[in-house]
This record gives sequence, structure tokens and C-alpha cells, in this order.
Amino acid sequence: LFVCFEGGEGAGKSTQSRLLRDWLTARGETVLLTFEPGDTPVGKELRRIVLDPATGDLSDRTEALLYAADKAEHVDHVVLPALARGEVVITDRYVDSTLAYQGAGRTLAVPEVEAVARWATGDLRPHLTVVLDLAPEAGLGRFDERDRIEGQSLEFHQRVRQGFLDLAAADPDHYVVLDARAPIDDLAAAIQARIEPLLER
Ligand code: C5P
Repeated sequence: LFVCFEGGEGAGKSTQSRLLRDWLTARGETVLLTFEPGDTPVGKELRRIVLDPATGDLSDRTEALLYAADKAEHVDHVVLPALARGEVVITDRYVDSTLAYQGAGRTLAVPEVEAVARWATGDLRPHLTVVLDLAPEAGLGRFDERDRIEGQSLEFHQRVRQGFLDLAAADPDHYVVLDARAPIDDLAAAIQARIEPLLER
């Protein structure tokens, strides 16, 4: 079973992915909790390059390609091996983050960004993607991430948010969209209810 968490900054993806991991582990599943960008040795370098302000201005296409390289490392060296071992894999961000940030956010052509990301991942798709939806004004104020988001306008983050919502609306069987302002335990329960029927996989 392959589950993905998506959403903007400060929406609670890491909290909810950890809670889901703990719930699944308590049910006897072996769970691999991972994230993008940066959860491989090469990915860590790529993350530093794309997120370090010292890198300076990256071309939008360079950025998209570096994220795609991170995905290829992640899928080949982390996600697929764990799935092959029969583990549940939970990833904090995946292809949809690229479609939302590099596509909708940066306004590169989404079909092109998607083609690159699908190629990079061998078109491996999650069984379920949980979108934690939050207005960017709320997410950006929630904790001090200013160094990472500075330079990106509110409009950028609004396009990113809409990007996630559009992806979910186009494929409701494989998405659940939750209001990230809900209490943590309510969100966890809603996610568990959606995962439970998938556990036979
Ligand atoms: O999820 P996490 O906070 O680790 O993501 C780090 C940053 O990378 C986020 O601030 C997000 O804006 C950015 N990012 C991006 N494009 C992606 C994935 C993440 O711009 N495809």
C-alpha cells in the first residue's frame, strides 16, 4: 500500500503522516515513512541545492529537473524496495507537489512537468493521496518557515493550493481532501477511516 500526503506549508503533513504510521504500526503493519525532497543520499544534496537561498536564482526548468531527479532516487532506492518487501509506504510529498509547485506555482506547462515527473517515477502512483488543505495565509503564519518561503508571493502559494485541489477533484477515487484546520485527532480519524478498506493490498 502506497499512501501520499500533500498540501502547502504548515498544513500538518508531517504530523498526520507520523500519526498514520503509528496507527498502522499498532495494527501490525510494517510501515516506511519517507518524504520528498531529500530522503536519499543524492536527494539530500538535491534538496540543499533547490532550497538553499545561497543557490541563487534557479531556472524554473532546472528546479523541475532537480525535483524529478530526487523522485527517481526516491522511487528506485526507497519506495519500490519497501513496497516489494510488502511494507506500507507513506510519503510526505510526491509527484503532486511537483505538479502544484513547479507546474501551477511556477506556471511551467503542467503537462510537460507531469511527463517528466511520471518518467522519473516510472509512473508509480499512490493508492491514496491525502490533501491537507489550508489557505496559505494560515499555513505560512503557523510556524517560522519564513526563510524557506520568502520570495514566493501569496499568489504563488494560492496557485499551489488550487493545484492540489484540482488534482484531487479530477480523481476523487484516489484522493481525500481534508480541511487542515480541523483538530488533529479528527483529521487522523478521517484518514484512518479512508485507509482501513485499503489495507488488504
Ligand atoms: O515538505 P517540506 O517542508 O520538506 O518541503 C520543503 C519545501 O520545498 C517546501 O517549502 C516547498 O515549498 C518546497 N517544494 C517545492 N516543490 C516540490 C516540493 C517541495 O517547491 N516539488
